[in-house]
Amino acid sequence: AERLLEIENLTTGFMTEKGFVKATDNISLTIEKGKTLCLVGESGSGKSVTSLSIMRLIDYAGGSILDGKIVFRGDDLAAKDQEEMRKIRGNKIAMIFQDPMSALNPVFSVGDQIAESLRLHQNKSESEAWKEAVNLLRMVGIPAPEIRAKQYPHELSGGMCQRVVIAVALACNPELLIADEPTTALDVTVQAQILDLLQKLKQELGMSILLITHDMGVAAEMADRIAVMYAGAIVEEGTVEEIFANPSHPYTVGLLQSIPGFEGTRGKELYTIKGTIPGLGNLPGGCRFHPRCPHVMDKCKTQEPLDFKVGNDHSAVCWLYEDKAPVVLGRNGGET
Ligand code: SF4
Ligand code: MG
Repeated sequence: AERLLEIENLTTGFMTEKGFVKATDNISLTIEKGKTLCLVGESGSGKSVTSLSIMRLIDYAGGSILDGKIVFRGDDLAAKDQEEMRKIRGNKIAMIFQDPMSALNPVFSVGDQIAESLRLHQNKSESEAWKEAVNLLRMVGIPAPEIRAKQYPHELSGGMCQRVVIAVALACNPELLIADEPTTALDVTVQAQILDLLQKLKQELGMSILLITHDMGVAAEMADRIAVMYAGAIVEEGTVEEIFANPSHPYTVGLLQSIPGFEGTRGKELYTIKGTIPGLGNLPGGCRFHPRCPHVMDKCKTQEPLDFKVGNDHSAVCWLYEDKAPVVLGRNGGET
């Protein structure tokens, strides 16, 4: 399949009193055209920093890109200036966040906010933009869109507001939609509806999605591929089928065993991974997961594990798979 975005050996971080602290450590990821990659991990694992880096919003969050490339349609975003990035943000790449209310302007009607985006990105006239805004509201499943378009964010439920935020994102016809925990703030039934909507839009529009979630259940439903992130590094990566059939990294296994109703957890007490994720700049030596790992071996405490091929199109960064072939990443991020 065609590659839309390739992150190659990306290291980012923040300057602190203790010096430069890494938030992502040499990560590589690929997003194919029309596919969904789920980036999964506990909060504090570096998922949001990864998405802020793609958008180059990390620059505004007090961080920076230390090394690596973010190749989008053959163009390295890590090397662009903010002027160039403004044209890409909200145009070719759009982003939605956890809290829809904070993404909407309380003093404009929702129709106006979508129309504004259309005027800005697609040079539409005012009446064309309004008509298209109503169409987009219909597309994201808002009933009576002509009436809803004239309403203000506070007149809509959280789920409806998230649909509006998605409509604003679609107004610029993005090739990549980055969704950072888009359903975490919503109740369970609304969550499922928003995820269905994203699936539908992906299929109808051929959009690629980078979905950031702490929830393996969400990833199971949405992902074509899954990358599991822990303490700033990708520790396991593969197709959704592979990851669920053959979870390999002990961290991934722990995440799966903490899903209610997942095979193997049904009827049992839910597992929780012991301990907490280490803070930035406070990584243990060797394998970064070793203080929490139920399978820890002596060498895990001193030697950083390599990335091993544990299945077809599936790899894990863990010494348990030392007998397998290490994955060698080419300079373009692809396996060699
Ligand atoms: Fe556990 Fe060792 Fe694998 Fe790290 S390398 S996840 S400590 S078994
Ligand atoms: Mg986050």
